[in-house]
Amino acid sequence: MGMTNRFTRIACLSATAALLAFPALAQTVKVTPLGGIDGEFCPQDRALVFEDPNGTRILYDPGRTVAGADDPRLGKIDVILVSHMHGDHVGNAHNKAPNSGSCDKPDMSVSALPNSSAVNIALAKKSTIVTGSEMPPFFAAKLKANGGDPAKSMLARFGGSVTVGGVRIATVTAMHSNGLDPDYIGGDLGKAMKDAGIAGDVGLATGYILKFSNGLVAYLSGDTGITADQDQVVRGHYHAKLAVMNINDLVKPASVIPSHANEVGTVSGKVRPGSKTEAFIKAVKVPAHVPLSGKTMEFDGAGKCTAGC
Ligand SMILES: [Zn+2]
Repeated sequence: MGMTNRFTRIACLSATAALLAFPALAQTVKVTPLGGIDGEFCPQDRALVFEDPNGTRILYDPGRTVAGADDPRLGKIDVILVSHMHGDHVGNAHNKAPNSGSCDKPDMSVSALPNSSAVNIALAKKSTIVTGSEMPPFFAAKLKANGGDPAKSMLARFGGSVTVGGVRIATVTAMHSNGLDPDYIGGDLGKAMKDAGIAGDVGLATGYILKFSNGLVAYLSGDTGITADQDQVVRGHYHAKLAVMNINDLVKPASVIPSHANEVGTVSGKVRPGSKTEAFIKAVKVPAHVPLSGKTMEFDGAGKCTAGC
């Protein structure tokens, strides 16, 4: 063995030792969609569970496809994120169980009013609900009214952040409406609001920026059109490497997960020809990974999918 070879070998050995000494370098964030039908991407699918390498589990927008707090796919949920108060995100109704209904006719037969699925799951799992804008007082009041701890509703203010379970959570603007349906208020006030045709004011809709312990920065767009913040804040300031979004490639991530397609996106786990999902995948210039319900994808700190895609 010549000097060069021996030197290379020593260098490799020390690189291996460094990886063993800092296991976080090799660790991934696991992303598992909790959609309506196992292995498919269906019209109502919104919910994703992010699991940090340290074990912290975050449920994003439970929507209508998580079968309430008893859904066996949930497991431990430390944090719940709600991008905005529309029923398909906070969860005004849901399926009886995973795989009830069909991909094109989702089951939404169980009402979650007046609490919402987000609140019911938070109460059962003792999760912290982290929202931005003016949504935290609403969730705090709901938790308190149901015997929960109002302090479990936390604010992630625009421009600031909170760290829960080792994951840093910030909110960004989303250009979308965010009126609170009077059905969540109920009583005489709820009825009066309904009769007047007005919704409750809980501030602006939001998106999220999550920084995981392996260094991965993910952008969850919420419902939004293109915003200037996507370029200046999401890409320029936070340097998001994984984006979960419907439209456009402004953010320049390393990977993107399309969401909220409002269509049957897959048939037998394959992208349906002629679908919006197919058009989106063709339009973006980075790898797009379709969120198939129950199929876990793993992402490294640079936003590259390393397994399950
Ligand atoms: Zn929506």
